Amino acid sequence: MEFSLTRMVQQQVEKAVSYTTIPEHIRRILKCPNLLLEVNFPVRMDDGQIKCFNGFRCQYNRALGPTKGGVRYHPQVNKEEVIALAAWMTWKCALVDLPYGGSKGGVICDPMTLSETELERITRRYTTEIMPILGPHIDIPAPDVFTTSKTMAWIMDTFSMIKGYTEPAVVTGKPEVLGGSLGRKQATGRGVSIVTRELYQNLGKSLQGATVAVQGFGNVGSHTALFLEEMGAKIVAVSDSSTGLIDYDGLPLNELVECIEKHACLANYGKIKSCPRDEVLYQDVDILVPAAMENQIRQDNADKIRAKTVVEGANGPTTPEADEILEKKGVHVVPDILANAGGVIVSHLEWVQALSGLQWEEDEINKRLERKLVTSFEKVWKKAQEKNISLRTAAYIVAIERIAEVYSYRGLFP
Ligand code: NAD
Repeated sequence: MEFSLTRMVQQQVEKAVSYTTIPEHIRRILKCPNLLLEVNFPVRMDDGQIKCFNGFRCQYNRALGPTKGGVRYHPQVNKEEVIALAAWMTWKCALVDLPYGGSKGGVICDPMTLSETELERITRRYTTEIMPILGPHIDIPAPDVFTTSKTMAWIMDTFSMIKGYTEPAVVTGKPEVLGGSLGRKQATGRGVSIVTRELYQNLGKSLQGATVAVQGFGNVGSHTALFLEEMGAKIVAVSDSSTGLIDYDGLPLNELVECIEKHACLANYGKIKSCPRDEVLYQDVDILVPAAMENQIRQDNADKIRAKTVVEGANGPTTPEADEILEKKGVHVVPDILANAGGVIVSHLEWVQALSGLQWEEDEINKRLERKLVTSFEKVWKKAQEKNISLRTAAYIVAIERIAEVYSYRGLFP
């Protein structure tokens, strides 16, 4: 069956909803995005030619507050993917109790072939095109695949120039000098490690010496590995898109981080024999952290997973068919909407700091992040125990019930 992110989100939601008494009209509302904007716009390239680009912004659900979600630049990004990712942001924000709905944006382009000045012009024009639906109390973008803090600075500047005043709260994930929050870069990986620790505590297990494999050694994967090592675990396998590295005596993480900083990929780390990158997924470890991209654990390879626990750093790494196989094998899966929510939690703190004109110490940020994730984990764990269901279905139930409750008070307009 062809892989479809939208089908995957719908299946996850329908399964969760079947355990609830949510009214039929709310189910119908939650099946479709509130708003989807498609834009086509011209940009002058460095050689003087004019090219047209196609972009999207989807605000999936606005019941809880302004929508929040990244902007993705990728040759394969499409409308369907943006809608599915916006839906995931909706459930994630609801689950961890943020006053946000979910959104996502994308521009079809290949950043690898574009100069910095071309990327800046694309970003400024895309911002102008979606300007009517942007704003600190409407929709707040953040970085996603192939967009960075610099992209956020361009969005913020374009928005501010058009409005006539500086508006730092219109984006998160900004450079620190522009009001980017301390701790944001590490937040998602820190969160992945916190939920792993909470799961282990609830299972009565110790992280001391637990073996870990991490797929994807980018922002989320590398920070998760470093934090889990700090908690006593042993990182024995990592991969990126170039290669896989395995050493059951423990990998030298700091050297691998240095290698990425210098050469951008693990293939240049010459001290350990490398292996095909997918081997990392199939190691006999205690914990597997898929932290690369969606659709990695599927019906065709789920049986080969030997880890006892999977903690989803990436969005959508496990398909619903694979989920069932892992569940039958007794593998504990901490779902993406809980495991990688650390990023949006700290993005929310960045937004609060921008709106209030304050800058908090990193300690304060980390304490707030930890409290929110621990509380969310407890809610999900309790729901899963109560109903004897997976952590994923439990997480969706907690998220969707919160949105349904908000609808029950807000009612329907007019
Ligand atoms: P990144 O670009 O920093 O890192 C991605 C890593 O995955 C890179 O090392 C890349 O080489 C590797 N990779 C790509 N394809 C691979 C493959 N087939 N096998 C092995 N490695 C592969 O991106 P990131 O910010 O770390 O995001 C990773 C995932 O986490 C994405 O799904 C993203 O949506 C999700 N996520 C990120 C954040 C965040 O704050 N950065 C928050 C929530 C969710």
